[in-house]
Amino acid sequence: MQQIGCPHASVSRQISIGYPEALSEKQSSIKIEQKGCSFCDVAADKGYMGNTTDNAITEQLKLLPEIKNSKKIPFELINENPVPKLESLLKIADSLKIRLSQINLTLRADYFVAGFDKFRIVLKKAQNNKIKILASSIGFESFDDSILKNLNKGVTAETNIKAIRKMRTLEYEFQNTFFYTRKDGANHGFIHPTPWDNAETTQNINILVARYSLAKDILPNHSTPLIIHHASALAEWARQIEIEQDIRFSRHGSTIGWWQIDGKIII
Ligand code: SF4
Repeated sequence: MQQIGCPHASVSRQISIGYPEALSEKQSSIKIEQKGCSFCDVAADKGYMGNTTDNAITEQLKLLPEIKNSKKIPFELINENPVPKLESLLKIADSLKIRLSQINLTLRADYFVAGFDKFRIVLKKAQNNKIKILASSIGFESFDDSILKNLNKGVTAETNIKAIRKMRTLEYEFQNTFFYTRKDGANHGFIHPTPWDNAETTQNINILVARYSLAKDILPNHSTPLIIHHASALAEWARQIEIEQDIRFSRHGSTIGWWQIDGKIII
């Protein structure tokens, strides 16, 4: 609604991605040129194409179907950075006498932390207007810094934890307005297993999961294994490894099976 593509995918740069743990004795890393998260096909397809206009937002708001009490259906802002323009969206709805029921947000942990003060102002307005705000999907992806780096997520485990602590505070402060837990319907990103898992990464993740009780509200019922689509930067990484090592990862439709080399399972 507010934006096309993802701001994290706006700039292309050269990064270094580690070899899979199973091949780490042969080579340490691969350098590739990429924008956004290395597993993301949105980053590869769209990059970042900028904000939509207020007119475009207004038209979309008007077209949303209504549920009971003439309120609009819940809808989701999927642009990873919805906070800066959320207040103006609520103002547009107010000025048109459009009654909103619930807004779901897909957002990055670092943008959430950076926009925290602004977000609190939005929540006050949402509370007054009886609008629910659900942080429905934050792509934490991992709680180990080396895996986050290989995913080119652009955040650290510390930022992820900061975001979680802030959400817990907000839930207490804005009861009946702000929601973020698995029980509320949120499905936050946690990618596991990955090709880079080892005893150290597992220990790092387990420590933070236990220390901050992440299983109680944040972690999904099951993790999502790393999926490498052919168009993503990680597909380029996989193909370069194949050439360097004269091996072949398995292929599964539109994805590359990093867990199987020359027909043998490596994890
Ligand atoms: S995974 Fe999310 S944050 Fe990362 S590039 Fe894709 S859309 Fe942006």
